[in-house]
Amino acid sequence: MYLVLLGPPGAGKGTQAVKLAERLSITHVASGDLFRENIGRGTPLGRRAKAYVDQGALVPDDLTVAMVMERLHQPDCRDGALLDGFPRTMAQAQALDQELVGDGKRLAGVLYIKAPDQVLLTRLAGRLTCSNCQATYHQTFHPPRVAGRCDRCGGRVYQREDDTWETARRRLQVYFSQTMPLIEYYRHAGLLVEVNGDQGAESVQEELVVKVNALEAAPFSEAQDA
Ligand code: ADP
Ligand code: AMP
Repeated sequence: MYLVLLGPPGAGKGTQAVKLAERLSITHVASGDLFRENIGRGTPLGRRAKAYVDQGALVPDDLTVAMVMERLHQPDCRDGALLDGFPRTMAQAQALDQELVGDGKRLAGVLYIKAPDQVLLTRLAGRLTCSNCQATYHQTFHPPRVAGRCDRCGGRVYQREDDTWETARRRLQVYFSQTMPLIEYYRHAGLLVEVNGDQGAESVQEELVVKVNALEAAPFSEAQDA
């Protein structure tokens, strides 16, 4: 099953994706994590992406699409993947469609997690990320059990450079101008499923599970056939 998690930065995509991918036994593919790994390792891709990521801008489509497609061609994505943070532009969405169709596959649904802007900014400005496994925490809503250390792997927990108020605000603007058009694109394709992200993380997960189960049970829609 191939699913996309769509939504503004801070909506809770990464938080939800880890658990949902585990439940569905599919691979979690987060474009932001892939960029941060490449930046951390100092790869040529990481060096090209760094300035965009630091400024809260989108990395150009050609680099992003090539990176995500390469990841999707790995064996652990053969039977499905939960895409988080990709696609973020129309060009990326079209590239994904083409790639899946070319491989005889299709998207089962696009889970659109929504939350008010003020909630997003508060979440982003308080987010803490593990430098080792990329698990996320929040200074107030979900602090690590031991300050500064990841509950999962013991790695160092830090504040991402792009999680300052100023850069978070810029990332929201980028989302409004470049990513929001995807909502209508996927609605038109009969794939969009809306989820309320402005509730406790466990409630969001429950809503997601119910809606994914409904997708699995639903017959292929006419809009998708078109
Ligand atoms: P995204 O991947 O959409 O950018 P994250 O999953 O990283 O968002 O969540 C952003 C921040 O908000 C993190 O610090 C996370 O711990 C916190 N968070 C996520 N979901 C919730 C929620 N439902 N309620 C409160 N805080 C949340
Ligand atoms: P995220 O971890 O999803 O918040 O992404 C962090 C940063 O990585 C973004 O602000 C962008 O600079 C870059 N990035 C992640 N995914 C994409 C994408 N699909 N297209 C372009 N840039 C991306």
